[in-house]
Amino acid sequence: MAVKSIVLFPDPVLRTRATVDVDPLDPTTQELIQDLIDTAKKHGAWGLSAQQLGQVARVAVVAKLWTDPRRARPVAPDWSPGAHPIVLCNPRLLGWVGGDTKREACMSLPGRAVDIWRPRKVTVAWVDEKGANRQGIFSGWQGRALQHEFDHLNGILIIDQSSKINRMTGERAA
Ligand SMILES: [Zn+2]
Repeated sequence: MAVKSIVLFPDPVLRTRATVDVDPLDPTTQELIQDLIDTAKKHGAWGLSAQQLGQVARVAVVAKLWTDPRRARPVAPDWSPGAHPIVLCNPRLLGWVGGDTKREACMSLPGRAVDIWRPRKVTVAWVDEKGANRQGIFSGWQGRALQHEFDHLNGILIIDQSSKINRMTGERAA
């Protein structure tokens, strides 16, 4: 249970897909979950994945996002215990609807922001920190943060999403 340093690009662990499911109740996983929450809270991140703490495991956390209705962006992620951050162990994407493009940043790529198209609404199944099977529908910035962390577990970074879109539209990156 500690604030850890966040692994930065181009560390190869960020490119490593986690393929084996974790046991959420294993003490090692419990420690990783707490480290993710502590570190994300300290840095004001929307979410954080195991790879960003140098571990290859299918574990990520996503904050509850406080959204100011007058603004398009969330004001701040809330990591207080009462806000019940989402602890995603072994998440699976079951479906998605629509899509839009918004600018995203990543704690592992400081100073970079990339416009990324993502589904607007996703249905996800996962196991929580108590070992319970969960399912939910996420949209808005929380849905986007969740997809961003999901990508991390598969070794995908925001710069890849950008190049993928550029390839699809035939544009060249500047
Ligand atoms: Zn990231």
